[in-house]
Amino acid sequence: MTPIQCITILGSTGSIGTSTLDVMSRHPERFRLHALTASSQVELMLAQCARFMPEVAVMAQETAGRLLAERVRAEGLSVQVRWGVAALDEVACAPDVDAVMAAIVGAAGLSPCIAAARAGKRLLLANKEALVVGGDVFMSAVREGGGTLLPIDSEHSAIFQSLPDDPTSWQRRVQKIILTASGGPFRTRDPMTLKQVTPEQACLHPNWVMGRKISVDSATMMNKALEVIEAHYLFGMSPDQLDVVIHPQSVIHSMVQYRDHSVVAQLGTPDMRVPIAYGLSWPERIESGAAALDFQALSAMTFEAMDDPGHLRRFPGIQLAWETLRGTPGSCAVLNAANEVAVDAFLNRRIRFDQIHDVNRSTLDRTCFAEPVSLDGLLALDANSRAEARQSILRLHG
Ligand code: NDP
Repeated sequence: MTPIQCITILGSTGSIGTSTLDVMSRHPERFRLHALTASSQVELMLAQCARFMPEVAVMAQETAGRLLAERVRAEGLSVQVRWGVAALDEVACAPDVDAVMAAIVGAAGLSPCIAAARAGKRLLLANKEALVVGGDVFMSAVREGGGTLLPIDSEHSAIFQSLPDDPTSWQRRVQKIILTASGGPFRTRDPMTLKQVTPEQACLHPNWVMGRKISVDSATMMNKALEVIEAHYLFGMSPDQLDVVIHPQSVIHSMVQYRDHSVVAQLGTPDMRVPIAYGLSWPERIESGAAALDFQALSAMTFEAMDDPGHLRRFPGIQLAWETLRGTPGSCAVLNAANEVAVDAFLNRRIRFDQIHDVNRSTLDRTCFAEPVSLDGLLALDANSRAEARQSILRLHG
């Protein structure tokens, strides 16, 4: 019989968090919950506590945590409520925990990811920004902890499933990795009209239902830039070995091209429960709740070159992946911080859609830094880059 795995979900109230709970609830004999965490959504967290009965619930924000504690007491639930950033780290590395689903959005997830990695947990990584910021420091923590890092992003899960089991053979056998990109909601839009895009339009992804930040990243294709960086760290591929192709149907989730030019791909319906179920059960396979791919209903699978001049005008941010990977170590953290600040400003209608790239470009050009070699160094670089990005936004307003 498979031993029961004890899980912490960081970011349980989000899109990935709720899908993870959905998959887990289909297999009560395989999983039990240690902790659920969120930032501010008290009512949703209360409902999750009542339904899934974790041992601990953590709110990153103190006021939300105090309110949740009151509500949990009033409902008579036996869930311990905690709050603050230190509590996130603690539930990520608690002794009982076997696996941590990292589904916080943004660099806010870096510290608990590193805590889980150092403690040798199986780390299921959806939170790509944590790896983009953490880079070599993150990967060293995984090696030192001796745990397993499994990708949840659908592209990276596809690549992982298409690679040989033995990681020491990857460099010898693999020529390149090809990440697929849907092109998001503006794939065919006239680039000149991107100035007028609203947050509502940017969040309407044609194939996936996701949180607001990643939806905007998909619309600018900064999501793909972050994924290229993520693939570099996860699979040890050089920038030259990483390619992107646009595939609007999102059926092929990504591919590996081998030295003999054989290509291995992973296909499926666009439903995050597939990579989540794979991460939770690896190396086994369990039922995910997703629909099976219906090949007869597939009218076509099409592909477009990323370096098409129209796409390069629509999505200037994609190039920043290779630029930062080849730049001073730490550049990827600067780019991520700028992008988080810029997307937040766009969602709050303080800058235009096309200005997200201007903020990213100018922050990369203006931030001075030395290579960060520790978690504290990374957090300081993240804070400085955010300050620089806010200055860029002020300059845009003249
Ligand atoms: P959501 O915005 O839907 O959820 C984010 C979660 O993080 C929520 O639980 C939120 O809590 C919590 N959170 C937000 N800010 C903080 C903070 N400062 N400290 C602690 N917790 C915080 O995001 P998604 O689920 O869409 O994405 C999560 C991650 O997974 C991202 O890195 C994204 O790139 C990645 N990903 C997502 C995919 C998807 O399909 N959604 C696909 C592939 C990767 P609260 O609800 O209280 O605000």
